[in-house]
Amino acid sequence: MDDIQFEEAARVGQIITIKAKVNRAFKTSMEVGIKVTVQDVLTDVEKVVSEAYATYVAKPAGAGKIELEPVILLSKEDHLEHTLAIERRRIRLGYEQVFKNLMQESNNEDIFEVQDAVSTDLTHVQSIELVQPPHANHHGNTFGGQIMAWMETVASISASRLCRSYPVLKSVNMFKFWGPSVVGDRLVFNAIVNNTFQNSVEVGVRVEAYNCEEWIKNQARHINSAFLIFNNVNEKGELLTFPRIKPTTKDSIRRYHGAIARRRIRLARKCMLSTKDDKPSDPWETSNQAFMSYSNIAALTHLAAKQGWEITTSLDDIKIWTHEEGDVLSLKVEMQVKIPSHVAFSLLSDFTLRQEWDTHFLTCEVLQAVSEDEKIYYVTSPPMTGHKPRDFVILVSERQSCKPSEPYMVAVKSVTLTSMPPSPEYCRSKILCAGFNIYSDSNSSCTVCYFNQVTSGVMPYLAANLTGSSKSIEHTALECIKFLELKGSNSLLKADF
Ligand code: ADP
Repeated sequence: MDDIQFEEAARVGQIITIKAKVNRAFKTSMEVGIKVTVQDVLTDVEKVVSEAYATYVAKPAGAGKIELEPVILLSKEDHLEHTLAIERRRIRLGYEQVFKNLMQESNNEDIFEVQDAVSTDLTHVQSIELVQPPHANHHGNTFGGQIMAWMETVASISASRLCRSYPVLKSVNMFKFWGPSVVGDRLVFNAIVNNTFQNSVEVGVRVEAYNCEEWIKNQARHINSAFLIFNNVNEKGELLTFPRIKPTTKDSIRRYHGAIARRRIRLARKCMLSTKDDKPSDPWETSNQAFMSYSNIAALTHLAAKQGWEITTSLDDIKIWTHEEGDVLSLKVEMQVKIPSHVAFSLLSDFTLRQEWDTHFLTCEVLQAVSEDEKIYYVTSPPMTGHKPRDFVILVSERQSCKPSEPYMVAVKSVTLTSMPPSPEYCRSKILCAGFNIYSDSNSSCTVCYFNQVTSGVMPYLAANLTGSSKSIEHTALECIKFLELKGSNSLLKADF
């Protein structure tokens, strides 16, 4: 289960609608998107309670694994979710490493000592449930949702020991079911508060299963562990503060730091998913790197999938499109290039080559090669008349195409690096969302689409091009095609040798 955030409370008498859909089948696992809405019968108002993603694996009748068939995509939405599913999978797979890195960073941090801090021992709750047939599916395995419901009960009792009112569940951290439990198992739930923040508390729950034999030998099977976040709310719905807690044992100190790391990851995700144009670029930190690359690719995917692109220039090999939505203007430049798509991808994803065809790039250097697919570059750009030269710190995320019908992607957005603050000589500029989608047309040709969500820096160029006083976009596109075809055929010749 990925993180679950509860945006709205559903109350007695309201109507809940749950929609679920397989977004993408990977080899043996699949991502299911779930959307829960609540509708008030009297007012007819409908609100989103939660949107979440779960991963399922098919359980074969015998031994071995089942390879899944790919899902058939019908709507634009299906295509979008299908592309983003693989990005969410990267986050899932990388989560543990991100958490480990944050924990290492927090090793040297002191625990904030406050007076009247409460010992966590007070909040320990244990409960034992016997799995009966109504709790299990037709395989005899306990329903994941049933285990989650039991976990919530135990965790909310643990939280209430601190808040002396009814805690409200706000979110559940990403978690995994490590193994199944079956009818006849005893499930032991242990919960304790790991840390408190201003208005919220993190309660951790560990679930272990025993069958009759294991029970006598005290051999537990770890089923799952989850971290639940509760708010403390009074009758008027106002948030109340939690008392600070005092970890005393080695384990509780580790969990205290663990809760801080998980909170940082949760907040990073929240920021990423609500990107606004006017706020400064997101800082590049251990806690949010996975979400930054997700939002980089997601923003480009969303922009490319938008309806209503209007053609403004149409030449033989180049088409220029614009898209308007409220006050957001975006640009698309479509280029026909006579080299294979994978060659265009490797040439366009290396930004140090960009000066060779784009006059807006004066210098370009790699600041951090985060991984094979993610790099941070520092770029300088010539001044516009009467202005200082501009500079950028950008994250470039590359994605290979998984199937012939899917494009190769190179997504670009600005990030803030503490080691690279703005300098007085340059005007620090921002890229909200830009990049290339490269579609294969044949073995020897492809369509390269360049996208750019227009910021104040790009606006003058676009305005001049739209009003006809400049042809700089066409010119840059021609240079891009020339560069790709020349370099591309050279590299193919080399490959032949
Ligand atoms: P970790 O200790 O690294 O957080 P675990 O999977 O062992 O990971 O436990 C998950 C959470 O469950 C802990 O953070 C803690 O809040 C709670 N927990 C684990 N064991 C106990 C226990 N014996 N008593 C109370 N709570 C527990």
